[in-house]
Amino acid sequence: MSQATYTTEQIARAQRLRLRRSLLAFLFYGASATVLAVACGIGLFPLGALYIVLVMFLCTPALFVALIASGANLRWRDPSLTEAQIAAAMLNCTLVLTFAGPLRGIVMLAYILPLQFGAFALTTPVLLRLCLIPAAGLPLAIAASHWLGMRGAALELELVQWMALMLVLPFTAYVAGRLFDYNRYKRLSDRDELSGLYNRRAALAYLDQLTRLSTPNQVAFCVAVLDFDHFKQINDQFGHAAGDEVIRSFALLARDTLRKGDVIARWGGEEFVVVLHGDYEQAQHSIERLREACAGQVVEAVGRAVTLSAGLALHQPGESIASLIERADRALYAAKHAGRNRTELAGHTLDRRQVGTAA
Ligand code: GH3
Ligand code: MG
Ligand code: MG
Repeated sequence: MSQATYTTEQIARAQRLRLRRSLLAFLFYGASATVLAVACGIGLFPLGALYIVLVMFLCTPALFVALIASGANLRWRDPSLTEAQIAAAMLNCTLVLTFAGPLRGIVMLAYILPLQFGAFALTTPVLLRLCLIPAAGLPLAIAASHWLGMRGAALELELVQWMALMLVLPFTAYVAGRLFDYNRYKRLSDRDELSGLYNRRAALAYLDQLTRLSTPNQVAFCVAVLDFDHFKQINDQFGHAAGDEVIRSFALLARDTLRKGDVIARWGGEEFVVVLHGDYEQAQHSIERLREACAGQVVEAVGRAVTLSAGLALHQPGESIASLIERADRALYAAKHAGRNRTELAGHTLDRRQVGTAA
């Protein structure tokens, strides 16, 4: 999905996530500052340098939080500012190394940590580029500390330590970059492009996992099949793009409305499958809440709400996925025949017995 197709709600959601991640950096800097304060207390780190470092450790995460909270980050090519945050952490590490004296050998390992944060957002070339900061920064820190008369180890030892770091960092960057590639591939192959929801393949894999686990003594689950009512009319009347918009806004609504742990996937076309945990009654409430929310949400592109019908089936111990979906599908068609914009329960599960407590 291109940047231009993101809705205001999607951008707000991403911003909240970025803000939470940036606030986490305070923890990282806070923990590092505590270690340095202890080192200072026992005379291994100069007090004057500690003050400088504390100011930097406070201002750096505060700057990124401010950039994200104000929305200024949205003008960057990568609004998560991951590369900038890693670079800043590495520069701060270089600053500490300048004053670390005998601790330099251990403190330089702190260069590795920020690189690992890049594993979920940056490619190998970008991560390798970031390694240039320690590659140049460490010798500069050593030179500055010698100039300030704060030598750490013998120069030969400092050289070997730097070489060891230059061996470790590119490999860390490579592995982190591969992790990113893998995550991106996994995300693309599991997701439906239009809605951003899981696709049929991912839903089937998840259901397969659940049916393997679902023995008589384990918590059971329900499956709902949802289908928009008179969707062809929407396409005919407002165009295919408006129909797509209905699907997209429903995906956002479902994410906000369903319970944590309920999993929704686009099954195909304008059909969705929801896998619900808990007892049958709770699952029914969850689906009803979603159906009602959908019936009450005006989609801008069509100027009104578009309703959907649902069929809900409780998985029976030993039942195959195909049979479960088929029962939910039949219930869906019953809902269509009963007048649409409603949820029907599948056949023999109408007794509303509690699930997950089977003796
Ligand atoms: P019913 O209430 O019986 O479900 O009527 P319906 O018109 O919704 O019938 P059906 O579910 O069979 O219609 C599916 C239609 O959804 C057919 C197709 O044109 C449309 N559709 C399927 N996938 C997409 C999509 O990705 N985008 C858009 N815009 N339309 C789609
Ligand atoms: Mg359909
Ligand atoms: Mg339909």
